[in-house]
Amino acid sequence: MLSNKLCSQLLDGSLTDHKTYISGTCRGYYVTVNTAENGMYIINISAHSESDPGNAALRDFIESRKNVTNQIQSVNVSNNNASIVSTRTFLIKKVPAHLNEAIMPIIDFLESNRYVSGCMQCGTQMSEVDCYDINGSHRYLCSDCAVKIESALSDKKQDVLSNKSNLIPGIVGALLGSMLGCLVYFLIWQLGYIAAIAGLITAVCTFKGYEMFGKVIDKKGVIVCVLVIIFSVFFANQIVWAYDAFKAYKDDGIGFFECFRYINDVVKLNELTGQYYGNLAMAYLMTLLGSYRNIVNAFKSSTGSFKVKKMKD
Ligand SMILES: [Zn+2]
Repeated sequence: MLSNKLCSQLLDGSLTDHKTYISGTCRGYYVTVNTAENGMYIINISAHSESDPGNAALRDFIESRKNVTNQIQSVNVSNNNASIVSTRTFLIKKVPAHLNEAIMPIIDFLESNRYVSGCMQCGTQMSEVDCYDINGSHRYLCSDCAVKIESALSDKKQDVLSNKSNLIPGIVGALLGSMLGCLVYFLIWQLGYIAAIAGLITAVCTFKGYEMFGKVIDKKGVIVCVLVIIFSVFFANQIVWAYDAFKAYKDDGIGFFECFRYINDVVKLNELTGQYYGNLAMAYLMTLLGSYRNIVNAFKSSTGSFKVKKMKD
């Protein structure tokens, strides 16, 4: 995530950069830093204290820091860990100072109030603690907790796989949802654009429609949704071209549905074939750009796939 030079400026150089995450111990406290999809930083600090059951005082302290610094977006404190979402910064050079401002006062607080650090899940200091990659987020865990988390995720996967959707209602829902996307596509076209946002809305509404009518999105649900999205982008493109043709021919008494039916002939007659396919390709590209992450995420969660991996130091 950072160069060696920048990483040495972070928390007095106590952490190591592992390219996709940063981890280490700062003054005896286990710390990991991940980047979220939206560019925010997710900082985990392992801490607990006998004199602060449930980390209530730690939570209050971090909550109060939100009033002092802009670098803390939100915080989630559990019995043995504080998970902090820190705002993003666009200048890579400023990242160490940015994160120091978020984390250092918390480390000072932990140290002066004699908190200790162990497994981020159970808090144990008795057994060895290692850094694990759990679905892309890094945490220090004892081997017992790592095994427990892995088996919980494996149980969840079995649940996901045994949860089947209702295909026919799902298809109806996906088609209804995609119509909303087509409408947005049509409206944005009238303003003279083909926008990625229309593709994103089509994808989100199609998946939502399938889920509402078909109960869950399983693997076949994802395939249905992708097919519906491909079809509806084509359909939306036909409609906007038909509407343009209708505007041109309506004085000759030709209706919209006629234009829709013969739109390919109209395109050929007016030697607009290149432009037509260019627009269609652009629409597919924009849809892909706007929605590929949704599609990938839907596919991932439909298979219940998970990852638990012990990291090397
Ligand atoms: Zn543990």
